[in-house]
Amino acid sequence: MKHPDSWLIRNASAILTGLHGAAARHAGPDIRITDGRIAALGALQPQPGEHVLDATDCVVYPGWVNTHHHLFQSLLKGIPAGIDQNLGAWLGAVPYRYRGLFDEHSFRLAARIGLVELARSGCSTVADHHYLYLPGMAFDSAQILFEEAQRLGLRFVLCRGGATQVRQAEGPTSAGPETLGQYLDDVERLVRTYHDSAADAWRRVVMAPTSPPYSMPPEHLRETARTARKLGIRLHSHLSETVEYQNEVQRRHQCSPVAFCAEHEWLGTDVWFAHLVKLGSEEIQLLGATGTGIAHCPQSNARLGSGIADIVALEAAGVPISMGVDGAASNEACDMISETHAAWLMQRAKGGERTLPGYAGGTGEGGAQSASVEDVVRWGTAGGAQVLGLEALGTVQVGMAADLALYRLDQPRYFGLHDLGIAPVVGGGRPTLRALLVGGQLRVENDTLPGIDLAELGHQAREAVVRLQRAAGVRA
Ligand SMILES: [Zn+2]
Repeated sequence: MKHPDSWLIRNASAILTGLHGAAARHAGPDIRITDGRIAALGALQPQPGEHVLDATDCVVYPGWVNTHHHLFQSLLKGIPAGIDQNLGAWLGAVPYRYRGLFDEHSFRLAARIGLVELARSGCSTVADHHYLYLPGMAFDSAQILFEEAQRLGLRFVLCRGGATQVRQAEGPTSAGPETLGQYLDDVERLVRTYHDSAADAWRRVVMAPTSPPYSMPPEHLRETARTARKLGIRLHSHLSETVEYQNEVQRRHQCSPVAFCAEHEWLGTDVWFAHLVKLGSEEIQLLGATGTGIAHCPQSNARLGSGIADIVALEAAGVPISMGVDGAASNEACDMISETHAAWLMQRAKGGERTLPGYAGGTGEGGAQSASVEDVVRWGTAGGAQVLGLEALGTVQVGMAADLALYRLDQPRYFGLHDLGIAPVVGGGRPTLRALLVGGQLRVENDTLPGIDLAELGHQAREAVVRLQRAAGVRA
């Protein structure tokens, strides 16, 4: 990455820091950036040679950290065969059916679309749980993902998915699984080629079999955990998204999914799971006691009818909370603004759902305290940096990496607000992105990414959808 410029962000209307309690906001109104890091916060004067970024009527957040995605699904939105299906049927009808139909062009295009959408929502770090690895594939999908993230100047964490056995839901084009040796050899290759262990790394690699109860026999699972720890990389996967996970693990192993993971060395501060919607109270305690994290994906969980993860209980137990958008095949709005808006509303709705009238043992109303805007911002920024082990990211503090999103509140939905700082989360729409800085470098300015023509991208996407439909036999 080229040497970053010095910036003075001037006159922000509000700054949310990603921190807890009283520190969740900083009065600013100015932020100085030098050498890619936040150098000062307060009332500051421009210095010679500094670029000044006028943030009048703007709100500043830390750049969002998306901790669970499947970028290849960006060309699989709203597929009719899966739009009203629960997880199991949807997996067969959509991702497993289509994933073998991607060629290099459509795969690169899907990754680009997803990353552009994320960047325009103010997301600076993306962890992609990537499981598009098929025998004899004509392209290196990991290389393409790193290239596309670098092209847009985003930090990228490749969670190397994969399976050594076939899951029942997989369709005819899912092809065969890898051997454990092939899988681990490729993870080691990726670590050698891309992994940077620095606290503000641009590239990371994670061991991420697609789903612990389904993707591998238990002895392989334990081997992946041991290899990851030997390589010094983290562990990620899906877990307990639906009752089917509970049923299946109970049937095969006579225990809960979290207990199954504990037995196979898949819990700890270096592990985070997407979803965790269906958990018993002892599972919540075990996740908390081991410091295992979550990528909370409320929109996908709602879209698939899975449920609402109990983030309040998980956080109280000690589980690090982060936010992920999940793949666009089960969340047609894959941006961090709509995701955090959904989290804010749905935790409150869940709190309200739990309340009972006094005559049935209830003690009063309880929904609105479930999640504040500051909580949700912290989950989507500092929480994400924590589960990814990128400790220099995720908060607006002196010394931290200058990954910052500046939102301009120039749309009617924001007019009349008494607290501008909450606008991006409460508004229910995407504000204009005045600027996205990543490592002190300007990546998005007034919603525009250098070298990205949205009209052309949309045109290519429409063509690619037609080709995928033909390949899948749903269009002549
Ligand atoms: Zn997922």
